Amino acid sequence: MGVAMLEKGVGIVPHYRPSDAQESPRFCGIRTFARLPYVTNLDGVDVAIVGIPFDTATTYRVGARFGPAAVRDGSALLRPYHPAMDVMVFEDLSCVDYGDTSVVPGYIEDSYARITAGIAPILAAGAIPIGIGGDHSITLAELRAVAAKHGPVALVQFDSHGDTWDEYFGRKYNHGTPFRRAAEEGLIDPRRSFQAGMRGSLYGPSDYQDARDMGFTLWPMEEVRRQGWDATHAAICAVVGSGPVFLTYDIDFVDPTYAPGTGTPEVGGPTSWEALLAVRGLVGLDLVAADCVEVLPAFDPTQTTAMLAANVIYEMLAVIARNRNRNRKDGPRR
Ligand code: MN
Ligand code: MN
Repeated sequence: MGVAMLEKGVGIVPHYRPSDAQESPRFCGIRTFARLPYVTNLDGVDVAIVGIPFDTATTYRVGARFGPAAVRDGSALLRPYHPAMDVMVFEDLSCVDYGDTSVVPGYIEDSYARITAGIAPILAAGAIPIGIGGDHSITLAELRAVAAKHGPVALVQFDSHGDTWDEYFGRKYNHGTPFRRAAEEGLIDPRRSFQAGMRGSLYGPSDYQDARDMGFTLWPMEEVRRQGWDATHAAICAVVGSGPVFLTYDIDFVDPTYAPGTGTPEVGGPTSWEALLAVRGLVGLDLVAADCVEVLPAFDPTQTTAMLAANVIYEMLAVIARNRNRNRKDGPRR
């Protein structure tokens, strides 16, 4: 179930796909992302979904440690064909649920070491990791693994916050600082990095200006609204260019009407449809890793946020599948 063996060259390589819903209904089985097989042998894997359940770097509500489990539960309805992108996601990509990385609750630097070590084998195998948070602090640990393989990457960040503070309570590591640290550590190239969706009250003008001074292109939600999505995507692609990209998606980018289950909600955000469109417009970018963070199930009584996050990750998979499909020399696989 969920595995087909394909001959590729001399060897036999597995192709991993979700369980067939015609054989066992979607509510059956142990919850993995999109009902993919839980596999930790990376042979034949294109994309590995990996939970990163660390949440003690939040500044307000905690509970995103339960995000990976909730997003998996909210992903059971995902089907293989993406009509808007005309792509059979799980035919173009062999995907697995890789389980969760280890973390140490309450100890961010110990957790960072475990998360980076947990992601590294996925990258070493040539697969693309897609993390499920966890709070946004985890992305720094992912970026350490990604930059070790690819060098400094471009960052595309959808978020209602820029997360480029210097410190909070005198501490350098929390979910408000990862992208300043990533720039300082040379993990990302801010000149090729784009932050979109920022809004809400701030401590002062420096919250945005600091990011711009570091080299980031930052479009607050007002700018996205004023310019529209086509122009936003064109601007992102122009800034990012053709090099490797880390896509990080904080679910609080989306309006709390559509994504109530999160730790630091900000009103005045995009709809759930725009939430998907934001990712869909990134076709052509060289995504080498991605994550979706800050899902907090305790504030998500109707599963709205978890289902949205699952669909955001599905959009990421569709972008990667679409790129592979487009680049295939023998034409689209369908
Ligand atoms: Mn964030
Ligand atoms: Mn945020």
